[in-house]
Formats: sequence, structure tokens, C-alpha cells
Amino acid sequence: MTKYVFCFGGDRNEGNASMRNLLGGKGCNLAEMACLDIPVPPGFTVTTEVCTLYYQEGKQLPQAVKDQAIEALTWLEGVRGKKLGDAANPLLVSVRSGARVSMPGMMDTVLNLGLNDATVEGLAKASGNARFAWDSYRRFIMMYSDVVLGVHKDHFEHRIEALKVRTGKKLDTDILAEEWKELCGEFKAIVKGKLGHDFPQDPIEQLFGGIRAVFESWETERAIIYRRMNHIPDDWGTAVNVQTMVFGNMGDDCGTGVAFTRDPGTGEPYFYGEYLINAQGEDVVAGVRTPQPITKYQAGESALKSLEEVMPETFRQLLSTCNRLEKHFKDMQDLEFTIEQGKLFMLQTRNGKRTAQASIRIAIDMVNEGMIDEKMALARLDPDSLMQLLAPIFDSQEKAAAKKAGKLMTKGLNAGPGAATGRIALSADQAKLLSHYGPVVLVRLETSPEDLAGMAAAKGILTARGGMTSHAAVVARGMGKPCVCGASSIEIDNEKGIVSVGDIRLKAGEDYISIDGSTGEVFAGQLATKPSEVNQVLVDKTIKAEDSVVYQRFATIMGWADKYRNMKVRTNADTPHDAAVAHAFGAEGIGLCRTEHMFFEGERILAVREMILAKDLAGRKRALEKLLPIQRMDFEGLFEAMNGLPVNIRLLDPPLHEFVPHDEAGQSEMAKVMHVSLAEVKQRVAQLHEFNPMMGHRGCRLGITFPEIIRMQMRAIAEAALNVAKRGITAMPEVMVPLVGHVKELQFTKAEMLAEIAAVNQERGTSFTCPIGTMIEIPRAAFVADQIAAEAEYFSFGTNDLTQMGFGFSRDDSGSFLPEYVSRKILEDDPFQSLDQEGIGAIVRMAAEKGRSVKPKLKLGVCGEHGGDPRSVKFFHKVGLNYVSCSPYRVPIAIVAAAQAALEAQG
Ligand code: PEP
Ligand code: MG
Repeated sequence: MTKYVFCFGGDRNEGNASMRNLLGGKGCNLAEMACLDIPVPPGFTVTTEVCTLYYQEGKQLPQAVKDQAIEALTWLEGVRGKKLGDAANPLLVSVRSGARVSMPGMMDTVLNLGLNDATVEGLAKASGNARFAWDSYRRFIMMYSDVVLGVHKDHFEHRIEALKVRTGKKLDTDILAEEWKELCGEFKAIVKGKLGHDFPQDPIEQLFGGIRAVFESWETERAIIYRRMNHIPDDWGTAVNVQTMVFGNMGDDCGTGVAFTRDPGTGEPYFYGEYLINAQGEDVVAGVRTPQPITKYQAGESALKSLEEVMPETFRQLLSTCNRLEKHFKDMQDLEFTIEQGKLFMLQTRNGKRTAQASIRIAIDMVNEGMIDEKMALARLDPDSLMQLLAPIFDSQEKAAAKKAGKLMTKGLNAGPGAATGRIALSADQAKLLSHYGPVVLVRLETSPEDLAGMAAAKGILTARGGMTSHAAVVARGMGKPCVCGASSIEIDNEKGIVSVGDIRLKAGEDYISIDGSTGEVFAGQLATKPSEVNQVLVDKTIKAEDSVVYQRFATIMGWADKYRNMKVRTNADTPHDAAVAHAFGAEGIGLCRTEHMFFEGERILAVREMILAKDLAGRKRALEKLLPIQRMDFEGLFEAMNGLPVNIRLLDPPLHEFVPHDEAGQSEMAKVMHVSLAEVKQRVAQLHEFNPMMGHRGCRLGITFPEIIRMQMRAIAEAALNVAKRGITAMPEVMVPLVGHVKELQFTKAEMLAEIAAVNQERGTSFTCPIGTMIEIPRAAFVADQIAAEAEYFSFGTNDLTQMGFGFSRDDSGSFLPEYVSRKILEDDPFQSLDQEGIGAIVRMAAEKGRSVKPKLKLGVCGEHGGDPRSVKFFHKVGLNYVSCSPYRVPIAIVAAAQAALEAQG
């Protein structure tokens, strides 16, 4: 019989850390901790498979699962010497979610399950603490009603606020037993009023209700959005952990907290965390009370008392347990703990989420400490997170000026580094709406999982409450967004739409706010940003490498990646500046220079228009003569920037109509330049109109109808290479033909190119040559790649067009339906962002194989957008491509992804 339930703790450890897929991250690590004899309250895990079964069976728990859960419960009762629902000595449990990878705050939890009108009295008697018992019961009614019964927690929170007003009390901890008891009555009445039936009193009904609710939370909108953002498959499901409750809310010798073995914001190797005395876990993460620091170091000058001072012995135990767990799992741990009457219990350990800066620092430190090797350090990095290291920061002079002008509103916790500026949004919906019109900063009292879509739409997140481990902080770090938390002096008036500190009043939807997630500072208005430290060292050269620790760490990671990767990384660049930036980031050449991009600048557009509008060969040649020196100069610039590295230039590609003037003023200007009538220009523009330009007169088709364009471009390339050589520059041009579908298109174009090269060589007495290749971006080309390989010295996969033509999705129009495809799960991802490996990827694979069947050493690269997407990069490695090419800022990402691909292949 399939085992659906696994016990941990006590005398029964049925799982361990290797069973993550079945038990989820929380479940497998609880089991592992129990195996290590770390104090874990015993419990059992219902497997992730049951989540799938639950949905397959129309949202029903199979009987076998129920039977196994009851059997595990009986065991648990034996271990604890208490029974669920026993009025004299009740067992209470928590019911918590736990997917394979952590999804902080996305799914549901119910604490204190097992309480009812009878057991609450028993708990009061057994614990000798009536206040604790009634506090636990009100928490349970509130959480269970919210999570399982669908009665929103706001209804209950309003009553707590009203009670506080009535009694003049500020904190939950000031509220007395009798008052909580009274509130429990009110809470139950709310449930009855909303649902028409009583709050469930049967603990077994409560238990299965809790388990079902956790499974249901897998399909909530926020969990679905989170999975999509983090590429977590929908069919993984979540496990459910049922665990004996231990109580942090029994008095002042109790508490609860969250700890990190290293600082998740900076990566500093210091024990880091937050706790609350006399509280339950949710109080810390929900940001309801601003928690206290764990260590004296962290408390610094503040008046807040650290756990290290308040409970020194428990603190020492906690520290040594956490260190042990970090060594055991060989990664920074994020732990939850509860102290019940001075006794420490661990409730969770997982690899902690961290900022890009922290992840890089931790990886390097752990290698230096001998805990992990370079390969493991690399394998763990999220290549996309490197973008955070390259993201802009606030200009320090601007910041100083803003401070002087009194715009510094306040300082909160530096929960997610980076600079963000934007219009203020006070709700997730407002953030989503405003983000269509410009950058947004989401400002909330505290965030909750419902805010996820708004957080995703915002450039940065600011909260007035909550600590470094609050929902906002954890989620923002996961998303790589700047975040300032716990900026408690900020007042938010949701009704009036005003955010204020003292005299500074900002209006939501209109005014800007700027947050520095690295320092915690919050400014009124818009602050200018400047390049990241890495940019300042590599590109602007305004900081010396030895003066920037951030840069040095970046360079260490890049050095490791270079050691292990075997795929090259090039860049898509059309200007010497972009080429130089990419080169500084490690690009090993240009994988795509789109020559048409060079034509848009300044005066040259007039010459290009003249060429296109010319009605005969003579007219076209006249225009091309004007363009030749401009192109030559452009190529010289690129060769200089990429001295000694390959520069892959693509012949002209775009649809002609993109260049022609469509407005009257532009057309009159062209008439003047060309000495023809306006009517003639208009007529030519009309002639050039295409119904489907993406499949029209573009790519090699242009050169076939107007070979003089090929000639001019080839001449410019050859002459530029010969010119720079005289200045000691090694030019390594490669020239490729776009949009080839038939081998004869390539043969025709190549013949023109070779003829022009011969002409240049003859004029100059030189012997210039360069590799001539082709784009593979039309499906037909992939099918006849063997024929094409006979004519081409290399292939470069244009996966943008290949996706367009393979799927039949217009690149320009698919925005109107692709998001729907993704949300309806017809497609996992937007195929223009991440390669559709099984379809378009199969076309790439086939072309690679066919090409190499003719030329075993045929060089293969990719220059579509997918060249900078880590998952696609790994696929290209598997297919055997020699290089990927991507935009300059994605070069470091592709480099790390290429190293990971090589390491994954090694196994
Ligand atoms: C491609 O199609 O993938 C490509 C790189 O060319 P472009 O995007 O310029 O059409
Ligand atoms: Mg293309």
C-alpha cells in the first residue's frame, strides 16, 4: 500500500533530507533534524503526492490518507501522552504547508488546532495559565476561520482593535485572560453570523479541514503567481505537516523567532535574527509587532534587548544548533524556533533566501571556509540575481542634496538592496495600474501574500511595520527588488491616499518617493540614480578595482565560471559603447551586430531613405555611396572595441517600410533631398507598403532584389578591417546572411559578397577574407540545414524569428494573447523569453545535427533573446552550441549559466 504519511520525532523517524520531493522542504528537514537529535516537536507529514491526488479526486482526501493520518495521530498522542480533543489534557497541533521549494508566506498555516470550548478550559488548567489558553483559542478561531472557513481575518482584527480602544490597551500582550475569552465569544458569533453554523468543535473535523485548506492554498492566486515567477511546476504540489504545538505565548520565559546563520541582506557571517517574547510565530513574520534583534551585535546602540541578553543560556543553545545545521546542510539556514518555558524547539530549517550581494558573499566565504567547493558555490547561484549587482544605485551627491533640502523622510530597515524611485501606490491594485504609466513604489503598513502581484509590478517596496524577516522583506529579496521595511515613523492614510512623516505629505498616485534598500533611507521625490559599483569599476572606470569589495566578489564569481564553462559568451551590440560595456562584463566577441540599427542615427537616416525610395539602380547607388563611409566608420569603431575578438555582422535585415517616412513632413524633406516631387515620394511609400512586413521584403530577400546593398555592406566591412589593421588593431569580422530559407538564397548572397571582397582586395592589393555564415531562423532552413551547411562556415540561430515562425506567433502582435496562454497554462512561459525547448528547441537540435553531419566542426551560436536566459542557455549547452550571444547586461548571467550547464553535464 502506498505510504502517504511519514512520522518524525519521538521514536519514529520515517523521513530524511533526501526525501524533499515527497515530503516537501519543511517536512524533509524536520525529519532530518529529528534524526540529528535536534529538539523538534514530533509530528507527521502528509506527502506532496496526496496534494495531486486531492485534486484528481475532485478535492477529496482519499480514505487511505485519512486512515494513515489517524494512525499517525494515535502514535503522536502516545508520544506526547496527550489526546487531541481531550478536555483534561488536550494535544494541540499546527498544520502547515511545505512544498519542495520554499514559497515564503504563499500558502496557509493553522496553529493551535484542537482547541474548542472544552479543551480551552483543559489547556488553561493544565498550563495553569488561563491568559495563554484564551489567547491561543482566539488565535485559532481567527486563523482557522480565515484559512479554512473563508471568513477574512479583518473581521476579527477589527474586534481586537475595538477591544484595545475600549480597554485603553496598546499591545496584545497587555490583554487579560477574561478579555480574550470575551473576544473568543465575539469571534464565534462572527463565524455563525457569516456562515450560518457554529465554529467546528470536533478536533478531527478541524484536522482534516486544516489539511484540506493547505492543499487548497496550492491553487490560490498568489501561490500560482509565485510559482510562475519562480518557474515552479504546478504539479509538484505541497505536503502538509501536522506537528505538536509548542508555545511561545505562555509568558515571559517564552518566545518565538526567526534566525539566519548569516545576514540575508549583506551576507556578513554573523548570526542574525529576530524574536518576540510571549508570542506565536505568526507575530514575527506578519510584521504585527516589530521584533527584537537576536544578538547584542545586531542590537547595536538601540534600546531593544537582544535574546543574547534576555535569555543567555537559550541563546547559546540556539546559536550552537544553528551552526550545526549550517554545517550539516552546507548552506546558510533560515530557521524558526520557539522557546517554551525556557526550552528551545526548532520548528523549521531551510536554505535561506538572500539578496544577490549576500548570495555572492556567502558563496565566496563558504569556499574560503572550506565548507563547499567552487563548483557547488557556482551551482547554487541564481544567474538572474547577478542583475541586482549591476542595477543602478542612488547618486551620492543627489542623496546629499536631498538630505540638505529636508527630503529625507525617515530610515527603516535595509531589507532588500538597490535604489528604487517611483509614484506611490498604496495597494497592490493601484501598483499594478500605475505601473503601466511609469515606475511605482508600493507603500504599505505591512505586506501580506495578497500583495504579491502589486509587489511584482512595483520597482520597490516600503513598509511601515515589520522586520527583516517580515513577508515584505523575504518576498522582496526573493524578487530582487529594493525594499525598506519597518519605517515606523511613516504614517499611511489609505482613505485619503496620503503618506506622511512630519510636515512632508505625499499623495499616492501622484507624488514620487525614493527608497534606498541598501541603507534603509526613504526620500520624498525622485532621486537620480547612477551605475552600480561593478559598472563604475568596469565601464566608467571611476572606482579602482582594489577599492570595491563588491566588484572583487563579482570578479571572483566570474573567474570561477570561466574556469568551468566550455560554451563561449558573446554579446549583441551595434555600437562601440555597447560593445565596450559587454567586453568589460566578459563578452568574448560580438554574436550579432544588427546593421540596420546603425542606420537610424542622425543624418544617415536620410541617406537610407534615399536608397530605399530611389526608383532605379543609379539613384540607389548614389545613396549607397553616401552610406559607405558611414558604415565603414561604424565597423571600425566596433573592431577597435573588440580588438582581437570576433565581430559577427549581419547584413541588412528589417522590413523596408520601417525606414520610410510616413508623415507629410518627413516625406517633404525626402522630396527635397532627392529633388523629386512630394507626390513621387508618396507613391513610392505606398508601393513599399506590406501587409505582413515580418514575412515580407526583409533579410536576404532585400539583398537579392538589390544586390548593391550587399556590395556596399561587404565593402564597408572589408575596408574597415583593413583600415584598423594599419592602426595595429586585429579585426575579426564574420558576416552572416539573415532570413535564409533556401540554400540558393545563401549561394546568391555569398557570391555577391565574395565578388566584392575580391574587388576590394584587387584595388588595395590585399588578401582580406572572413568567414561567411548564415542565420538559421526560418524553419525551412533548419530542415535543409545539411544543404545550407555546405555553403556556410557557421550558423547563428535566430531564435526570435524561429519562435515566431515555428509557432506562427507574430513577434509584434502576440502580446495580446500570450499572457492569456501563460495564465491558462497552455504554455509554461512566454516562448519569446524562455525557449520552448520541446518544440522550437527540437528545431534547433535538428539543424545542429544536420549541419554537423556535413561539417562536423561547424561553429554554432545563438543570437536570439534566449541567449541571455539561463534555462535556455543550459539547453543550448546540451545541444552542443559553441556560444550564446546576448545583450551586454546579461553577459555575466549567461557566463554563470554556461558554467552551471557544464557542471550539470558533469553530474
Ligand atoms: C532572431 O530572429 O532571433 C534574431 C536575432 O534576429 P532579429 O531579432 O533581429 O530578427
Ligand atoms: Mg531574426
